[in-house]
Amino acid sequence: MTKKIALVTGAARGIGLATTKLFLEDGWSVAMVDWDHDELQRASDGLEHVIAISKDVSKPEQVDAIIAETLEQFGKIDALVNNAGVADFGPIEDTDFGRWRRVMETNLDGVFLMTQAAIPALKETSGSIVNIASISGLRASTLRVAYGTSKAAVIQLTKQQAAELGEYGIRANCICPGPVRTKLAMAVHSQDIIDAYHDAIPLNRYGSEIEIANAIHFLASNKASYVTGQVLAVDGGFDSTGVGLP
Ligand code: NAD
Repeated sequence: MTKKIALVTGAARGIGLATTKLFLEDGWSVAMVDWDHDELQRASDGLEHVIAISKDVSKPEQVDAIIAETLEQFGKIDALVNNAGVADFGPIEDTDFGRWRRVMETNLDGVFLMTQAAIPALKETSGSIVNIASISGLRASTLRVAYGTSKAAVIQLTKQQAAELGEYGIRANCICPGPVRTKLAMAVHSQDIIDAYHDAIPLNRYGSEIEIANAIHFLASNKASYVTGQVLAVDGGFDSTGVGLP
């Protein structure tokens, strides 16, 4: 059987790197994409069956180059994991337009552009798309106007993708992780937020990168062959409680 190919964005660290390693363990090859050239080199060093592509998912011409390089090296794409993301917490009055756009460019434009550019390749394989949103896209809070809005839009974009692309056998699903101690989260989670999450989450803890990666891998694989248009919270039960985001 020919190797399956995954394209994972934001693969240099955190959830994206854990996802890359899980696909590799399962025998896939992975195109690792990240705009942080040095961190991507460090992460991909020593990994077999990967290519490392240092590009920005929010720039249309760079996105075209990402898809072209992946197809040149691997010949196809079976799964697109739109994981690259940035976080910026602040209320509406403090979020100037530059901060707003910075979040939207990666978190929303990046998912739109990567998906649009990958569609011809995904049609060839009846491939799948997994978008990484957030519990911040399911619930409002006073701090997350840009981040939460971008992630809510990713949830809707997932449903659009599923509705439009199902006729080609392409599935699209979305994961809403709860808090995970990555660089992104630790830059915006104060001690108060950390404590509040521990209290509010039924499992009383943060998740780990691999717990999110396991869900991504499931949705990308044929084990989820009849699952599309779904939003899966991998959050220790947080969303089931109805408690507000800290
Ligand atoms: P992380 O900061 O460890 O990893 C994100 C990666 O994306 C970084 O390597 C970064 O360089 C890369 N990246 C950012 N913008 C990019 C761009 N425009 N082009 C290419 N690469 C880009 O963070 P993480 O926590 O692993 O985040 C992964 C995803 O999970 C994000 O979409 C994030 O919003 C989501 N998420 C994280 C948490 C959490 O608590 N960690 C919770 C919910 C959702």
